[in-house]
Amino acid sequence: MARADASPALHLKAGREKSLLRRHPWIFSGAVDRVEGGARSGDTVAVRTSAGAFVAWAAFSPQSQIRARVWSWDEAERIDAAFFRARFRTAVAARAGFAAHGNAVRLVHGEADGLPGVACDRYADVLVLQFATAGAERWREAIAEAALAESGCGVAYERSDLDVRALEGLAPRAGPLRGEPGGESREPAVEIAEHGLKYRVDVAHGQKTGFYLDQRANRDRVRALAAGREVLNGFCYSGGFTLNALAGGARSALSIDSSAPALALARANAALNGLDDGRAEWLEADVFAALRTLRDRGRTFDLVVLDPPKLAPTAAHAEKAARAYKDANLLAFKLLRPAGLLVTFSCSGGVSPELFQKIVAGAAADAGADVRLRERLAADADHPVSLAFPEGEYLKGLVLEKR
Ligand code: SAH
Repeated sequence: MARADASPALHLKAGREKSLLRRHPWIFSGAVDRVEGGARSGDTVAVRTSAGAFVAWAAFSPQSQIRARVWSWDEAERIDAAFFRARFRTAVAARAGFAAHGNAVRLVHGEADGLPGVACDRYADVLVLQFATAGAERWREAIAEAALAESGCGVAYERSDLDVRALEGLAPRAGPLRGEPGGESREPAVEIAEHGLKYRVDVAHGQKTGFYLDQRANRDRVRALAAGREVLNGFCYSGGFTLNALAGGARSALSIDSSAPALALARANAALNGLDDGRAEWLEADVFAALRTLRDRGRTFDLVVLDPPKLAPTAAHAEKAARAYKDANLLAFKLLRPAGLLVTFSCSGGVSPELFQKIVAGAAADAGADVRLRERLAADADHPVSLAFPEGEYLKGLVLEKR
């Protein structure tokens, strides 16, 4: 096709198109033979086999080891504002069922929605957008337009202040994109509802884009498991699992986080829901140290939730992360009473579900605990996983019962 011929081209080394033909959307630097046509960072390039056959349209990232990310497999497709509009339309339509869970939902989840480097969360009538890659950055305006138009929201805030942007040669950026969240009050906080509970989300200063939407279904699961139990919630952030445990009839809930603003928000969220009824205890501390202290004091619990931050962003960090996961889970098993439940997570892309289960099994063995696997958990369905891109399955959880 003439137009593809005229575009900058990324030529693959011989035989390096295999993963792409299975629709894996990343092209690593080692697979690239040469780039022609003066492509600059963020430009759309035609990816070609060594024989010259068209494979895909991709965004060029000259500074990253992931040298290009696929926008489209269709040679006839143009990568332009209409393309992003169409991708957002499909993604938003796929989330129609989430209105039943509340008014906060991830509308676009990167590769799984055909938009590598783009995340878009909806909190009530406010969008939070994240542009992680050179290609996403290049199309920032068109993507913001598409997000606003397809969601029907009037306000958008940008949280492109994530570490991985440095790998693309991009500086962090955060601030209002359209309108002001909080409106007149100019306070960048939004109130959302999820499964009947209310949360304040600080879109400007909160972690990630403000809230861990990926844990929605798992918070609900904890609510169903909590009745009559004494609960420990490690790494509580703005209180999601705590509020659900309390709403589910927990006898008590001790919540630990090392971030003072996170704990303040968690307390405020408990109050917002009338759950500040004497059952909740809040502790600003390092979870690893706090679990040791609790063990030394002989404290025990019937339900422990562990949702640590990303300890292994990539496989290179897996070994160090494995030690930390093992440490926390071992201590948790020690703190559990017989018939107690551990709900434990890893959101590290560098730790596979198999490896995580192995680490936790090692922790149980070292704790001398006899443990049954009751359930496997994952991110909620507004964070889909493309079968062609298994790396997207970053969040995994286990519900474990101590005998
Ligand atoms: N479960 C939460 C999300 C947890 S995010 C939810 O559903 O919303 C991870 C949290 O761990 C963050 O709030 C961060 O402040 C906290 N954190 C990171 N390292 C920590 C440590 N060593 N000790 C205690 N908290 C820590």
